[in-house]
Amino acid sequence: MDLQFLGAATTVTGSQYLLTTARARILIDCGMFQGTPDETIRNRVPFAYEPPRVDALLLTHAHLDHCGLIPHLVAEGFAGPIYATAGTLELAALVLLDSGRLQEEFAKREMRWEHRHPDRAAASNHQAQTDYAAALDLAEAGEELAGSPATGRPGNHHTGEHVPTTVEPAGPQLARPTDTAGRAGQAPEVEPEPELEAPLYTERDARRSLRRFRPIRYDTEFEVAPGVHATFLDAGHILGSAIIRLRVQDGEGDPERVLVFSGDLGRPGSPILRDYTSVTEADYLLVESTYGGREHEPEAEAMRILAETVRLVAEHDGVLLVPAFAIGRTQDLIWSLDRLIDQGAIPLLPLYLDSPMASKATDIYRRHPEYFDAETTSLLRRGGTPLDYPKQIVTDDFQHSQAIARAPRPYMIVSANGMLTGGRVVGHLRDLIDDPSAVILFVGYQGEGTLGAHLQAGATTVKVEGAVREVRCKIRSISGFSAHADESEVLDWLRNFTAGGSGAPARPSRAPRTVFIVHGDPEAQKAIEPKIRALGLATHIPEWHERVTLE
Ligand SMILES: [Zn+2]
Repeated sequence: MDLQFLGAATTVTGSQYLLTTARARILIDCGMFQGTPDETIRNRVPFAYEPPRVDALLLTHAHLDHCGLIPHLVAEGFAGPIYATAGTLELAALVLLDSGRLQEEFAKREMRWEHRHPDRAAASNHQAQTDYAAALDLAEAGEELAGSPATGRPGNHHTGEHVPTTVEPAGPQLARPTDTAGRAGQAPEVEPEPELEAPLYTERDARRSLRRFRPIRYDTEFEVAPGVHATFLDAGHILGSAIIRLRVQDGEGDPERVLVFSGDLGRPGSPILRDYTSVTEADYLLVESTYGGREHEPEAEAMRILAETVRLVAEHDGVLLVPAFAIGRTQDLIWSLDRLIDQGAIPLLPLYLDSPMASKATDIYRRHPEYFDAETTSLLRRGGTPLDYPKQIVTDDFQHSQAIARAPRPYMIVSANGMLTGGRVVGHLRDLIDDPSAVILFVGYQGEGTLGAHLQAGATTVKVEGAVREVRCKIRSISGFSAHADESEVLDWLRNFTAGGSGAPARPSRAPRTVFIVHGDPEAQKAIEPKIRALGLATHIPEWHERVTLE
């Protein structure tokens, strides 16, 4: 059998892995690439397989970078079941319909802009084509990596030499199937290049893809395809999130192999949800590495900084802007603010929840108390409202969103998206960036090259919606509210595989032959790799499109 890494390889987005056995083809996640243009262009690269020939898709959780390409996959002919927990499927429906809508809107806006600025449009189109050609080359380079047995190659040759995400545009010899039609002197109706501006999929495509959803329960094994059995275990990351364990038999009579996909691992002790599940056995393991080399501050410290920041804003009649992903971060943040109000640690400022998706996601959280941890369950039982801030104003439409700027200060805004790569939050940032009484508070991971990452690194000028702006607001960060385990917490989870866990298994521990380090930026992966090896585990950092044989 083999496994191909079709996303989240030396980057944090686009999660997608294809398992091929003698009898089945199974996808694990089908996420969208997000972030810089040379990343997002990868969404346009044709699938590395024929979608109609894939038997099933297993979805770890509902974040767009794990599920965002599902409508595209279905539109390209995938007709199998999509298995995930009920919580994940409800959230994924919300995420995908919104994504389809956004893509249509974006394409329309892009078309109008091109109409008004034909010269700049030509340049930007050319850049997109160049990025696309580079992405195809990168995929090809990954395909060409030797499909050697992944039985642990200490110090494999890729480590530390990651292919940069921006590569030189390929030479003029390019003869891509997609741009073979004549570029010049052809009839104008001939489309010479791949259509990179059309929506990748529409809201209708998204709606159609939801018909493939099949809810499953945690901890209940089921047969996905001949020779492949799956169990979803709580990953404690967002509502419904899962670690996926597969028992796989390549051909009939072949020995069984256990594959574990960590998905995104939550932070133990974080609000609302139960902690990640300890797993003790695997032959092959894929582990996320978002926070490789980094530690979060303890929860108490995160709460202290949050309280201090809210008080600072209150004292200066300022505005607190929190860019937060609608699903997960927003609910945790509101939970934390609600606790601080209960403790009398902060004044009760109005909170504008400027993210229709966030309030819909909260409704879905409310419908699934069976996923909550003991603390939240007991808060609810005592009549608490841990998912609602007492002075919360939900803004549904764009006009209300814009009107927030005229509201009497002080107040707080929570708006998506979390890395400032788009969404309503960018409009607020435009209003507040040169306002010294405003505070931008980051509570989640900022991907390399994003506006959020630049601000966090202390940039004094940044580009917001194309304009160069001076940064005069205050910038603060709290990593303790992260939805991701930090390095020590990932290593703790991995240690279960070496020690057999605290539950002393009946048979000897089955330590993974190879730990594939995925879902991390190169620096993070390089930082955590030696520490995983120090646990006695062999590691490999796969490249995008690399295929490995699992023996
Ligand atoms: Zn996630």
